Amino acid sequence: MDQKITIKDKQFRPFIPAKKIDEAVKKVAGQINAELKNESPVFLVVLNGSFMFASDLLKEVTIPCEISFIKVASYHGTSSSGSVSELIGLTEDLSGRTVVIVEDIVDTGVTLEKLVTVLQRKNVKQIKVATALMKPDSYKKEFKVDYVGMEIGNDFVVGYGLDYDGMGRNLKEIYVLA
Ligand code: 5GP
Repeated sequence: MDQKITIKDKQFRPFIPAKKIDEAVKKVAGQINAELKNESPVFLVVLNGSFMFASDLLKEVTIPCEISFIKVASYHGTSSSGSVSELIGLTEDLSGRTVVIVEDIVDTGVTLEKLVTVLQRKNVKQIKVATALMKPDSYKKEFKVDYVGMEIGNDFVVGYGLDYDGMGRNLKEIYVLA
């Protein structure tokens, strides 16, 4: 059963079984249901990697809410201002709303920070962050990650939405580089 798999040029071994993922998802949903019950939040699901976590999580979220799907596009402008981030797919008016960013994994926090910076310009009431996985030893940012499914070390993982070079997102368990 617990066999190594090969994706392209790399081998991965089973790391987090589906049952443990399920428990983590239910824990996060329980926290959200309790803490945000009067907020009618908007969940912003960050594609592509979060699709599986978002689907499982939101089935367990029982409070009134909206769900929207976004992508973060980064590009380098012609000025010296460095990289600029844009959210693709955000059509809702978020002013005054509690927004819950749904991420697959938070590593250094660079991606999350870009997202938060864009959202802070939209007059939201508050921003919360839910992530399936977090690498606390790698996280370099100040912004609080409110709801964490599971903490892992600095290893590269695939499955449960996460890819290696485009592959492996469909795996229902999480694998780590062997
Ligand atoms: P950060 O900006 O927090 O450093 O990284 C966030 C992004 O890096 C994630 O959204 C994900 O795309 C990618 N990433 C970070 N760690 C992993 C990992 O272990 N596996 C995979 N597949 N992607 C990762």
